[in-house]
Amino acid sequence: MSNVLDAFLQENLQDLRDQGLYNEVDPVEGPNGAKIQVRGKELINLSSNNYLGLATNEELKRIAKEAIDKYGVGAGAVRSINGTLDLHVKLEEKLAEFKGTEAAISFQSGFNCNMAAISAVMDKNDAILSDQLNHASIIDGCRLSKAKIIAFKHSDMEDLHAKAKAAQESGLYNKVMIITDGVFSMDGDIAKLPEIVKIAKELDLITYVDDAHGSGVTGKGKGTVKHFGLEKDIDFQMGTLSKAVGVVGGYVAGKQSLIDWLKVRSRPFLFSTAVTPGDVAATTAALQMIIDSTELHDKLWENGDYLKAGLKELGFNIGASETPITPCIIGDEKLTQEFSKRLFEEGVYAKSIVFPTVQKGAGRVRNMPTAAHTKEMLDEAMSIYGKVGKELGIIK
Ligand SMILES: *Cc1c(COP(=O)(O)O)cnc(C)c1O
Repeated sequence: MSNVLDAFLQENLQDLRDQGLYNEVDPVEGPNGAKIQVRGKELINLSSNNYLGLATNEELKRIAKEAIDKYGVGAGAVRSINGTLDLHVKLEEKLAEFKGTEAAISFQSGFNCNMAAISAVMDKNDAILSDQLNHASIIDGCRLSKAKIIAFKHSDMEDLHAKAKAAQESGLYNKVMIITDGVFSMDGDIAKLPEIVKIAKELDLITYVDDAHGSGVTGKGKGTVKHFGLEKDIDFQMGTLSKAVGVVGGYVAGKQSLIDWLKVRSRPFLFSTAVTPGDVAATTAALQMIIDSTELHDKLWENGDYLKAGLKELGFNIGASETPITPCIIGDEKLTQEFSKRLFEEGVYAKSIVFPTVQKGAGRVRNMPTAAHTKEMLDEAMSIYGKVGKELGIIK
């Protein structure tokens, strides 16, 4: 290894470890369900994004296996050459139906979708107004586009309005976009989309909503744009197929002309191999399940409300979540990590989340209840929270 690289790595890794910011990754030794096995220990799992339990659904497993038998394990090429299987076309039709739009395009992941879609439309002569708490993939997608990035204060509509107006009146930009998470993943709050749409209409802004944590969860499962009835007003309805939908992939739903453009100009569609047949078939079937029934969605919210009420009652600071996402905000990074470690020892897997995922001093253990949890599991988890919280002086 080069001496310069070696010195860089030694110094920076040690620095992260000293600050309590080095994240240890634990392999899960089995399905990522309501209970998981890690280091040989069975734990109540409060850390997955498997909101509806679909990642381990038996019917979806069967459908994926059938698709593998028929098509093989790989798609064989990039989408624009001959990696587009009829399965991908069906998925995209289903996505458009799910989101209430003319058309949709799917990608290999939500992250890569944000890399793809933003830079296919925005360039160095444009500006993007970006919520300060937007997801890393939005930030990177914006950077890749080379557009001027103008951050606005989290969900602060006055700040957004002032900055949007200034950007338009400056005459410096050809196009101006506003981009936001639909549901903010670290706090569980929902973007103020009706106000955002109003500002966008007044100032002629392009609107882009990343609803990775909303689809399957808000809007009776159809997402945050649907929750507010704004399907006709948001230009890019972006989402992931890896969270509530339970498989893998990302997508943009919108007008036919937008999707046609993304199919010729988004680089991961042109230069990265298409998602595998098994995944695409399972994803399409998972979307159909979400369209057909709100049973899993209802169970998810019931569990979320139950967990929130219980943790609040115990005295934890659960922030201001409007969705099943339930943070326990602790603050200090080392204490947060110690708390998570003790929860593990007692039988709960709830990962600590610290800088750079959240701001410094805003360390938290984030709980993700799912439709697959039982009341008994949540009760057990909360009794462990009470015990460990008192032991570490986080609650009284
Ligand atoms: C998780 C997430 C993504 C990335 O989605 P993947 O499919 O996991 O790559 C993008 N945006 C937001 C807001 C997310 O929470």
